[in-house]
Amino acid sequence: MMTDSKKQVVLMKGIGVSSGIVIGRAYTLERGMVEPAHFCYIDPSETEGEIERFSHALNASRDQLTRIKHKMEQDGKGKEHIRIIEAHLLILKDNMLINDTIKAIRDQRVNAEWALKTVLNDIMEYFDKMDDPYLRERAMDIEHIVNRLLLNLMGRKHESIAEIKEPVVVIAHDLAPTDTAQMVKGTVLGFLTDAGGKTSHTAIMARSLEIPAVVGLESITRQAEPGDIIIVDGTTGTVIINPSESVIEVYKRRRERYENYGKALFHYKDLPSETTDGKRVRLIGNMEIVEEIDALIEHGAEGIGLYRTEFLYLNRKDLPTEEEHVRAYRQVAKKMAPNPVVIRTLDVGGDKILPQMESQKEINPALGLRAIRFCLKNVDLFKVQLRGILRASSYGDIKIMFPMISGMEEVRLARQLLEECKRELKVEGKAFNQDIEVGVMIEVPSAAMIADLIVKEVNFISIGTNDLLQYSLAIDRVNEHVAYLYEPFHPAVLRIIKGVIEAANKAGVSVGVCGEMAGEPEYALILLGFGVDQLSMNAYSVLRVKRLIRSISHAEAKRICKSILAFATAKEVENYINTKLPGLYKEEFWS
Ligand code: PEP
Ligand code: MG
Repeated sequence: MMTDSKKQVVLMKGIGVSSGIVIGRAYTLERGMVEPAHFCYIDPSETEGEIERFSHALNASRDQLTRIKHKMEQDGKGKEHIRIIEAHLLILKDNMLINDTIKAIRDQRVNAEWALKTVLNDIMEYFDKMDDPYLRERAMDIEHIVNRLLLNLMGRKHESIAEIKEPVVVIAHDLAPTDTAQMVKGTVLGFLTDAGGKTSHTAIMARSLEIPAVVGLESITRQAEPGDIIIVDGTTGTVIINPSESVIEVYKRRRERYENYGKALFHYKDLPSETTDGKRVRLIGNMEIVEEIDALIEHGAEGIGLYRTEFLYLNRKDLPTEEEHVRAYRQVAKKMAPNPVVIRTLDVGGDKILPQMESQKEINPALGLRAIRFCLKNVDLFKVQLRGILRASSYGDIKIMFPMISGMEEVRLARQLLEECKRELKVEGKAFNQDIEVGVMIEVPSAAMIADLIVKEVNFISIGTNDLLQYSLAIDRVNEHVAYLYEPFHPAVLRIIKGVIEAANKAGVSVGVCGEMAGEPEYALILLGFGVDQLSMNAYSVLRVKRLIRSISHAEAKRICKSILAFATAKEVENYINTKLPGLYKEEFWS
């Protein structure tokens, strides 16, 4: 690949949402922010003609999406992907979008493109007032559809990713899930967007397709030109435009090391996850959508430790039915059998609001009606899920877990509802596992403080370190301004985690960690030393963590943990751990 030494080198940092390194030519896609070609007033005699043009564009967009959907069905793409296209097709039938555009053409006597853009602006203004990132992503879905309509109105081609023939790095203001769903690994080497966050569907799909990606770059579409050579490092979120030959060489070596390291890790796949002195730590997986299971199995995950069921509720106008719950959970249980699957009940509220439900705007949503609090307020909705989980439990080793528990009453109330569902199912003659195990997430400091009491009333606990850090360090986990305070090595965090694990160990109750800490070897080392039984993480982390566990004795991990308790700052702990890690375990590929 020839570099152009006259072009300026640009280094950018975004959010790495899918790991790996790729080097390729930029391929810019026109997505997001399509500007109508022109504004014009129309003569009243032209109104019907404009409306007809608009309706042709609607039909053309519908046909295009239907074709994409059929192609995805033929290619055997998962239901989650297809449902997104179906949601987009529904937006095309939306009365507000259609009627308001027609009204604007009639009342304001403007061309269809302009009328449509005005309606979009109104809709966006409405969404802009909301803080919730999930709702903002729904607004983006509408924007994507309107852009497709605009391109059809203007007779411009909505270039499909499926048409890309050469291997390229795709660059766009934003990519719709309809785009990611069409990506073919090998042709789309990686992708970069101005917009986006870790929880967008686009990011989720990139991970499940294992295509390196960096999002949230803000100005990549302005910085990169078609044909530029680009380095994408999806692990660190680094992007280099027009790198020099020597930098390319550095990244090529890094890529090779990364790939070799990934391959070498498979050596550990069938080896037991145990320390040199025989302490077993079960390594299990976190998942959001069914497509992630294959990668978890491939990397040797011995079960699912956290199934985030929120994704069953998103991208749709109605709520999932009991049958849908049963189908989804049964599929996962069967695939993972005989290994266990922990299904976490709905964790919405806070930064994730269900579009199907009327909800009040909260001043402090992270401290608001979230997760179990939301479910205990919306009992009917909760019971549909509980019944679904129970019925699926007759097909495999399914366990149930309640999120965001802050006190014992919540545990008891949730368990009462579960018992009520069991009684109903019994009367209805429906099969379920009467002895289904029930656990809770420990992610609120108040629950952590009474972990010794909680473990008396549950079968297992799992520490959600993402939220436990948020609540114990008082830092909003989605606020980039306080991100520097997000320190898993903070002595307070370590003490809280230690206390919880010890309480569970003392009671003989299984204790796991399913927050991001579990998947990072340096933190896993500490969790091991504190005495954790299970660690739950994404597919790629499983073998990295197993490698660490197999490289150390439990006795040594305990000694390390004892020493770190004397340190006063996260930095001191980190420095100490860094002196300990190299002898045990070294991930050399970044050097
Ligand atoms: C956590 O809080 O650590 C956790 C695993 O749950 P989530 O990230 O879904 O809030
Ligand atoms: Mg959580």
